[in-house]
Amino acid sequence: MTPREAVAALPAYSAGKPPQAAEGFTPYKLSSNENPLGPVPAAAQALRDVSTLHRYPNPGAESLREALADQLQVPFSDIVTGAGSLGALTQLISAFAGTGQNGQKDEVIYAWRSFEAYPIVVRTAGAQDVAVPVAEDGRHDLAAMTEAVTDRTKTILLCTPNNPTGPALTHTEVTEFLKTIPQNIVVVIDEAYFEFVRSADPVDALALYREHSNVVVLRTFSKAHGLAGLRVGYAIAQPAVTDHLRKVAVPFAVSAVAEAAAMASLSHIDEVHQRVETIVQERDRVASALADAGWAIPETQGNFVWLPLGSASVDFAQAAGAQALAVRPFDGEGVRVSVGEPEANDRFIQLCRTYSGRPG
Ligand code: PMP
Repeated sequence: MTPREAVAALPAYSAGKPPQAAEGFTPYKLSSNENPLGPVPAAAQALRDVSTLHRYPNPGAESLREALADQLQVPFSDIVTGAGSLGALTQLISAFAGTGQNGQKDEVIYAWRSFEAYPIVVRTAGAQDVAVPVAEDGRHDLAAMTEAVTDRTKTILLCTPNNPTGPALTHTEVTEFLKTIPQNIVVVIDEAYFEFVRSADPVDALALYREHSNVVVLRTFSKAHGLAGLRVGYAIAQPAVTDHLRKVAVPFAVSAVAEAAAMASLSHIDEVHQRVETIVQERDRVASALADAGWAIPETQGNFVWLPLGSASVDFAQAAGAQALAVRPFDGEGVRVSVGEPEANDRFIQLCRTYSGRPG
């Protein structure tokens, strides 16, 4: 079979691997930025209570959108849900970027390295991805991203905190950046990890969406809410965007059980925030232990740390694997390690203290 040209050349998405068994070690998965604490008990219970499995769910996850609209104080019609935020992003790209006109593909700009799915989603839509390298410290190079804009640019993806390198953008930076971008270009602020940010000037993405008709806020229940297995995410934008998003939205993308659990999690938001705080404290403990052990890692604002190991990345992941820790190597660049259970974090810290393969 011959797929479309863009698809033939696509790399397949490679998800985080599970840990291998190793004698004497409890296995831990630190390779997918999951929430080691899981969902709040009420969310786990809510999905068990769903009794209408023979019925289709609300096509537009209306109950969940009402709950979100109420909690975030945004109009109901400004929210579009998807099967995870990746589902919502796929819908968004398919609405705004594609094969273009006169043989010239639409362009989508993003920082790189960033979320592995970006090039796949963009190229699948038939558009051209424009990857702007992150700076040495793992931060977006926003000036270079502005310079990359052409008259074919349709969408720009900002990832804050950036997966996998870790730093978050600041509100000032994004505000200034938006001034340099033409209003007809959709700017997505991918906030998959925003709940974990503890910086002095955090991005207020909801304020930015209220001020700019081209800004889309992308959020998920996979990380802070611990519901990655259910696949619920959403985009928030003004009608100039959501009117079109709704047309391409996959009907019933959010299942009835996913909607019920997400709503229960929202109604226990204080408990969710407490869990996030526990993870943030573990993250900070891991980051300072690594600094004490002489590792120079970028600022980490998500639920993961980035080890810029370059050519030693795969070797480090193997060393972790030998102790039943699954981590995520990006060959030649670095290793991303999710913040996990305290015992997993201790083992990871100990490995970093003793690992002798660091280049330079
Ligand atoms: N954006 C970023 C930056 C991510 O890291 C991820 C998941 N790893 C997603 C979006 C997608 O998450 P989900 O589809 O589970 O909401």
